[in-house]
Amino acid sequence: MSQQTVLVTGAAGFLGSHLTDALLAQGHSVLGVDNLCTGNLANLAHLRTESRFRLLEHDICQPFDPGPVDYVFNLASPASPVDYARLGVETLLVGSAGTMNTLDIARKYQAGYLHASTSECYGDPEVHPQVETYWGNVNPVGPRSVYDEAKRFSEAAVMAYHRYYGVNTHLVRIFNTYGPRLQANDGRVISNLMMQALQGKPLTIYGDGSQTRSFCYVSDLIEGIVRLARSEEHMPVNIGNPVEWTILECAQEVLRVTGSASEIIFNPLPQDDPTRRRPDITRAKTLLGWEPTVFLREGLERSIDYFRSFVNN
Ligand code: NAD
Ligand code: UDP
Repeated sequence: MSQQTVLVTGAAGFLGSHLTDALLAQGHSVLGVDNLCTGNLANLAHLRTESRFRLLEHDICQPFDPGPVDYVFNLASPASPVDYARLGVETLLVGSAGTMNTLDIARKYQAGYLHASTSECYGDPEVHPQVETYWGNVNPVGPRSVYDEAKRFSEAAVMAYHRYYGVNTHLVRIFNTYGPRLQANDGRVISNLMMQALQGKPLTIYGDGSQTRSFCYVSDLIEGIVRLARSEEHMPVNIGNPVEWTILECAQEVLRVTGSASEIIFNPLPQDDPTRRRPDITRAKTLLGWEPTVFLREGLERSIDYFRSFVNN
């Protein structure tokens, strides 16, 4: 991309702030939009004197006109199970009205558009590993449905703006991503286990820990998103790390990396917790020449100082 004006919704969040950094490093100007419902201004504090960055505090469920932009990255949405359980209706709204409002901006200014979708579109998958052609196994009325169905609606809306209005859209299905700026108290597994290990508290495993996830380090994820945004691909593309871990193995890795002597305790499994998750990244490899380079041990090591900064604070 030549130097562009880029709109990033959810810019104060974990992924949005890293994407903003990457876009600024490439020479672009970034207008961030965020209502701070789960985001944190601290994630953008280092940009206070950056003249090519501006933050608009706004709820994208309300229509807005940022003026001409060349590209829209739509990342705004609560993302952790704890956050979207707390903000259920808001999550449904941002994944429907919010997505449509940002698509209208891309349509008006003939801007490119990339939407942050999720492996949750696959629900509790019967196909393993998950390929993009799999339609998923989602409970439409369960506690995760506010997130899953909003994300599935967003995908339909994005495809409709592409098919009916010719908007140059892209859909990334993001698998569990972690790293510095992940909210320390968002209840996700990496943040919980890292904070517990560093504080010498018991590591909480939900269920028996045999459920699996595949963890992608944030720099790999951002590289994949940027490549997809520049591509000609309009159908969904998985971006994630295909190495699959049981949650128990993940807890043991956290103990190794932190050198913590915390014990592991077992708590009840939340309803509809997916039993397994692993991306098939053949499309990302073939279409984008992308594959992850940072594996769990190194990614956790790179994240320790960040999580430690919250201990005793
Ligand atoms: P996050 O909660 O750190 O960031 C989301 C940001 O969106 C926050 O800053 C929040 O304040 C903002 N936001 C929410 N609703 C808004 C609204 N109505 N108007 C304006 N801003 C709003 O979460 P994240 O992990 O950075 O996730 C970013 C995106 O990536 C989300 O769309 C999420 O669904 C998707 N995603 C993330 C992961 C992951 O593992 N982190 C996995 C799959 C998909
Ligand atoms: N989990 C856990 N202990 C925790 C937090 C989460 O065992 O303290 C489990 C959770 O039940 C799920 C997995 O870890 O099986 C990943 O949870 P997370 O909330 O990170 O994201 P999800 O992939 O479920 O959206």
